[in-house]
Amino acid sequence: MFDARIWAAVPFHFWSVVLFVFGSMVGSFLNVVICRLPRGESLVTPGSHCPKCNVPIPWHRNLPLITWVSQRGRCAACAATISPRYFVVELVGGLCFLGCWLRFGEMSPTLALVYCVLIGGFIAATAIDFEHFIIPDEITLGGAVVGVLLSGVVPGMHNTTLASRSVLQSLLGLGVGAGVVYAILRLGKLLFGRQRYELPPETKVRFEETKLVMPDQEIHYEEIFYRPSDTLYVQAQTVSLVLKDLSGPLPEKTWQNATLSLNPSMLKVDAESFNPEEVHSLEVATDLIVIPREAMGLGDVKFMAAIGAFLGWKAAVFSLMASAVIGSVVGITLIALKRQSWSGRLPYGPYIALAATLWVFGAREWAAKVFPWF
Ligand SMILES: [Zn+2]
Repeated sequence: MFDARIWAAVPFHFWSVVLFVFGSMVGSFLNVVICRLPRGESLVTPGSHCPKCNVPIPWHRNLPLITWVSQRGRCAACAATISPRYFVVELVGGLCFLGCWLRFGEMSPTLALVYCVLIGGFIAATAIDFEHFIIPDEITLGGAVVGVLLSGVVPGMHNTTLASRSVLQSLLGLGVGAGVVYAILRLGKLLFGRQRYELPPETKVRFEETKLVMPDQEIHYEEIFYRPSDTLYVQAQTVSLVLKDLSGPLPEKTWQNATLSLNPSMLKVDAESFNPEEVHSLEVATDLIVIPREAMGLGDVKFMAAIGAFLGWKAAVFSLMASAVIGSVVGITLIALKRQSWSGRLPYGPYIALAATLWVFGAREWAAKVFPWF
């Protein structure tokens, strides 16, 4: 039954179909990952259910691609719209797995599967980064560990037949990837890490529900807080804070000459901490507001470590440079189309993922030709 000759006789494109179907099933699972991982929920329980009416979805109504099309993007029970993202991720999963197979299957089926794992991670990282401006450690750090381990099992990942050399190359890639991005992150922080708003003394600034209101401009919080760690600082002459209570606003608290810091999960005035959700109103008089502005975050450092572990240090350097180019082109295009303001920010992880994918699918050979010394 497991006669190698029978398997060898199976046509190559039989496996192409298998890989496409398998890829769309993985895409279906990645949809669960994308939805639950950043919220810290279990990937296993509860089983698939409608996000609106919570009705469990049986397997025969959970077929990748087919279900979304046949139900026209609606839940069978309550007719709530199911996001096209589910269909897109399943389709991209299928196409990427198929692409890896067509490109590497003939040469090394194992290598094709390794790249399927890598690109599966890219799909999840991209979708999560777009929505939440973070890439979870499970994907980045987990990916780095998996990359090193797989390098030991599949030395072909680093163009060698020796497991020890492959692991060494993987660790080198991990170190270079993380190191280069970390250096740029620190440098960027120094050069344009923060934007300072110097105002006339005692300027009244109001923190509203969704935005920061200064006398001559408003800044929406989504343009300030991209990551949970992004923190805004105010050197305030006076602070007046009213907290909410179930029964209504509580009495006003005031401070003189205080330092205020605010991030998505905490408001601090001098040494006292508050939950931003519980703030009813907040107003300060100030002459200086400092707002975080960073192109990349620590998540990108870890993400590049994973890419280096899978693809080696050259791929990490290439991905960094190519992602900067792609990012600039996309950013400038969006600004030109007035879809994005100069102060707004796009997630950076997707550009890194795209650049690394280009490397896998041919930029590697191109780089070897154009930069022979590289
Ligand atoms: Zn429903």
